[in-house]
Amino acid sequence: MNTLNILVVGGGIGGLTSAIALRRAGFDVTIVEKDPDWSVYGVGIIQQANVIRAMADLGIIDDYLGAGFGFDQVEIYVPSGQRVAIIPSPRLTPGYPANVGIGRRALHQVLGDRAIAAGAAIRLGVTVGALDDDGEGEGVDVTFSDGTRGRYDIAIGADGLYSQMRDHVAPEAAPPAFVGQGVWRYNFPRPADVTALCAFDGPIGVGLVPLSDTLMYMYVTTPEPENRRYPRTGLAAEMRSKLTGQPPRIAELAEQIIDDDAVVYKPLEWIMLEGPWHRGRVVLIGDAVHATTPHLGQGAGMAIEDSIVLAEELVRHPNPEAAFAAFRARRIDRCRYIVEQSKAISFGQTGQGPRVDQGKVTHEMFQITAQPI
Ligand SMILES: Cc1cc2nc3c(=O)[nH]c(=O)nc-3n(C[C@H](O)[C@H](O)[C@H](O)COP(=O)(O)OP(=O)(O)OC[C@H]3O[C@@H](n4cnc5c(N)ncnc54)[C@H](O)[C@@H]3O)c2cc1C
Repeated sequence: MNTLNILVVGGGIGGLTSAIALRRAGFDVTIVEKDPDWSVYGVGIIQQANVIRAMADLGIIDDYLGAGFGFDQVEIYVPSGQRVAIIPSPRLTPGYPANVGIGRRALHQVLGDRAIAAGAAIRLGVTVGALDDDGEGEGVDVTFSDGTRGRYDIAIGADGLYSQMRDHVAPEAAPPAFVGQGVWRYNFPRPADVTALCAFDGPIGVGLVPLSDTLMYMYVTTPEPENRRYPRTGLAAEMRSKLTGQPPRIAELAEQIIDDDAVVYKPLEWIMLEGPWHRGRVVLIGDAVHATTPHLGQGAGMAIEDSIVLAEELVRHPNPEAAFAAFRARRIDRCRYIVEQSKAISFGQTGQGPRVDQGKVTHEMFQITAQPI
């Protein structure tokens, strides 16, 4: 195996798990992250059994679970507030739970610490200024935004939904598409009885997700006629207004949404590159190449699995371009399934498509993501 010198562009979830997987394989890794503060917004994320399996594979499962809240079921509530179902979710890793709720900052801390401990170099406040694949298929020359230069055997674009590296790999790709929904999120102290994902069904989808012994977050999925950006001032009142008519439990929590700075709103967008995922010595992973809406809670999971598979294929193939093709072949069907099914749920909720039985799709998704990666 050649020891590759690898540039990872983007120090988010997929970039950091890539660094861990690539360092484990013996490659040299430098991450450039454009945010000088390496900040992450303060709400949480749901991850499922395939992600827990991936974290075990990466050797970071105990740190990861120590930073989150494990649970084995999803509770479904109807708009009246009555619990109508408890859906067990399958475990894949013996001795560990089936799902985890984890704060994004807590996850970032675990992944960042482990990537650095594994020997990855991280440069903050730096991005790629110019990138020159030498045309010989032997390396990539990069001029960074701070004027420094470097030569790498390969570059990995893990730079998320609005990827700059995608412009290099697939300049013809359409930009991310808005689905007509947005998600509002807010943290609360965790009540003792919120020990699993509690999903409140209805035209406005609401969920409560435990994140730690003391913390949970609420997500609220709303139809949004246009892809607008809300001003920060007034965000809390805006989020509260989305929650009128909710069952008493949610209405009581809504009254506590008072801090504009603590509200996180995101419009929901997707992208799926059907063409090649690499060009020369540059390859894309995660949201840069397949970003999904969160209806199946699998976007980050797909980025994490990508990072493991890419590292495996780089070990297996002496020629990186062969590794990139093998990586895409192993990943595309699963990632497309997540993007398409999540979109179908979203379209059903907004009347842009037939209504989808989310419980049935979630059950099917568990079976598909339980398959080996
Ligand atoms: C509302 C919402 C809820 C979600 N909930 C879940 C959930 O419950 N479970 C789940 O699994 N997924 C969820 N997701 C999806 C998940 O957040 C993404 O799939 C995941 O973050 C993708 O990881 P990534 O590493 O590809 O990109 P990101 O995590 O976005 O990381 C990209 C990194 O690259 C950096 N960057 C960007 N451009 C450059 C550049 N030019 N140069 C250098 N650095 C750059 C960014 O600053 C960032 O640090 C949700 C998404 C949304 C919008």
